[in-house]
Amino acid sequence: MNMIYHQAVSTPEEIKARYPVTPEIAETVQARIEAQQAIFRGEDPRLLLIVGPCSADNEEAVLDYIARLRRVQEAVAERIFIVPRIYTGKPRTTGEGYMGPLHQPDPEARTDMMKGLLAVRKMHMRAVAETGFTCADEMLYPENHAYLDDLLAYVAVGARSVENQQHRLTASGLEVPVGMKNPTGGDISVMMNAILAAQRPHTFLYRGMEAETPGNPYAHAILRGYTDKHGTPMSNYHYEDLARLSALYAKMGLANPSVIVDCNHANSGKNPLEQPRILREVLSCRRWNGDVARLVKGFMVESYIEDGAQKIGEGVYGKSITDACLGWEKTERMIYDMAEAL
Ligand code: PEP
Ligand code: MN
Repeated sequence: MNMIYHQAVSTPEEIKARYPVTPEIAETVQARIEAQQAIFRGEDPRLLLIVGPCSADNEEAVLDYIARLRRVQEAVAERIFIVPRIYTGKPRTTGEGYMGPLHQPDPEARTDMMKGLLAVRKMHMRAVAETGFTCADEMLYPENHAYLDDLLAYVAVGARSVENQQHRLTASGLEVPVGMKNPTGGDISVMMNAILAAQRPHTFLYRGMEAETPGNPYAHAILRGYTDKHGTPMSNYHYEDLARLSALYAKMGLANPSVIVDCNHANSGKNPLEQPRILREVLSCRRWNGDVARLVKGFMVESYIEDGAQKIGEGVYGKSITDACLGWEKTERMIYDMAEAL
């Protein structure tokens, strides 16, 4: 081993005892989990919109953003169920770059993971307490899920993790819907196998225990585009992609066939301003084909207060320091347009 141990960090139980959820928060979390489960079962016709910054780099800006979403949510509540993104750990393609508030609650300061664990719990807790929104996060490090499991209503397994056994097994033990992204290389069978594995029961090692899981019938697909062998971004949100996915789901006999279309990442070719167009195109695919309409349960959109992205240290409030995002005004318009089109 060639590691320096900097500090011991508190266990999830210790941190939860220090910052416990109130009974009201616990109730909100449970109600929102159940509402989403009904959407994935196809019993609630609302569409999910998982929307927010690529990384939750600044608590004040993120909470400000989510408070704005709250006002829009009220206006579209009959048709759209909004789940803000508070993404606390960022996977890095080359291992270089900002790893999210879990590592660096202050992006300009050095890594402090104990501070990070407290900061991410505080941010998710404030979101529920101040806005009533339970949020989505990526389960980048499966063991860390235990620090936030009483606050989250939606979990994604990222494109770089979806083939990993520990992610799949952990997903099988969650109550919340877990979105399995297609891998960066685009192989749909990897995503489908991840869903299959997560829907099955398992026994495995988790946080020093032999753990048994019942399987998660709410594991589902997220299409995020991919890069081909030359590194060119390719999309997978088109009618043919959705129709093929619907047929594949039927063949595999999975529970609750569902897809969330991620409008950014390789689907937008990293141009966040394309997201409203992609969303609109998928809505029109839903209108054309009942199977596609039943399959598409919602969208993921990367959005923040300002359009685009900046480098760490540039200091523009509410502007992403990871993937470029759609700014607030365009996001608000996109959500109202979506509600009108439904
Ligand atoms: C993200 O949602 O910001 C993300 C990292 O996605 P992906 O795993 O699809 O690259
Ligand atoms: Mn991103």
